[in-house]
Amino acid sequence: MARKKNLPFGFEEGEQYITIVLKHRLRDKAASSLNRQARAVNYVWNYCNNAQKHAFDRRWLWKDKWLSYRQLHTLTTGAGPELGLQAHTIQRICDQYVRSRKAKKKRWLRYRGRKSLGWVPFANDQVFFDGQAFTFNGVRYEPMHLRENIFYPAYGMSGSFNRDSRGRWFINVTVEMRVAASAPNTKVGIDLGLDTLACLSDGREIEPPKFYRANEERLATAQRARKTPKRVCKIHAKAVNRRKDFLHKESARIAKEYGLIVVGNVSPSKLAKTTMAKSVFDAGWADLKGMLSYKALMHGGMCLEVNEAWSSQVCSVCGCLPASRPKGIADLGMREWTCDECGTAHRRDVNAAKNILRIGLDTLAEGTRL
Ligand SMILES: [Zn+2]
Repeated sequence: MARKKNLPFGFEEGEQYITIVLKHRLRDKAASSLNRQARAVNYVWNYCNNAQKHAFDRRWLWKDKWLSYRQLHTLTTGAGPELGLQAHTIQRICDQYVRSRKAKKKRWLRYRGRKSLGWVPFANDQVFFDGQAFTFNGVRYEPMHLRENIFYPAYGMSGSFNRDSRGRWFINVTVEMRVAASAPNTKVGIDLGLDTLACLSDGREIEPPKFYRANEERLATAQRARKTPKRVCKIHAKAVNRRKDFLHKESARIAKEYGLIVVGNVSPSKLAKTTMAKSVFDAGWADLKGMLSYKALMHGGMCLEVNEAWSSQVCSVCGCLPASRPKGIADLGMREWTCDECGTAHRRDVNAAKNILRIGLDTLAEGTRL
């Protein structure tokens, strides 16, 4: 993580940092400027698309049927002032156009129009942050909330302004976050589940608040019932926001407390019992894992994902597979059990979390031996 010369304000030499992408909701008063730029962005995009189409149609005439970033860059040079866009924004559009076309393996792409979600890309070093707001292309954009202990924005990266389907603008920007010098010497295993969102090896359970499940269920129902897009959109946005807010708080607490966090990947047999859509759980689990991994880094710790196979069946005390263990889908309802071999009474999820922690520690030990 070599750092280029200019240290951001408040950043001391020799400090560790990580970069993460943050999304901030922007106040609406600057929306008109972004809306105008988004239209210009569409114009540039469609211009690139036409140029690509043209090149492909005349491939017998020219040897380049696929336009490169450099070629598009040359074609669009100097268009900025007239369109009210900055040069780096146009470069980012050309870059993205070439990437998208390659990724989608298409001769050309869809045109961007009024129905496209607004998008204004930028290079990070052209966005300035003064402690309260981002200044870009001569306009100040105030975010609704800011996080402490973060340096905006990271050098040498790019980001974008994005408008969602409800017309609200966000900034997606890569930022630098200070990393704690050392993590506490503590460890925890986490079992992701259905009855509780997660169970920790110290016996604590992360119980989602009531609205959590209710909202996710409402969302699933609305999607199935093909409600109007606007309605689904609103329910969706609300459910996602509340879920993320809840998970941010929980993951922050865990990351602060534990230096090593081991999470199990979720086995399909767990999902077999539920009548709810798999995606409902998946989204929560994925969010939690993502948050844990960067928050662990932020606190100087580490987050590990391991295969959780057998973790709910092995006794975490004696390490055997007793006959009394919960087996497969049939025993998913069995929340407590006693080991035949050593007589320990287990809570199923806590036992699983303990096994996950052990698997994590074994993995680490193997790693150091190599
Ligand atoms: Zn046992």
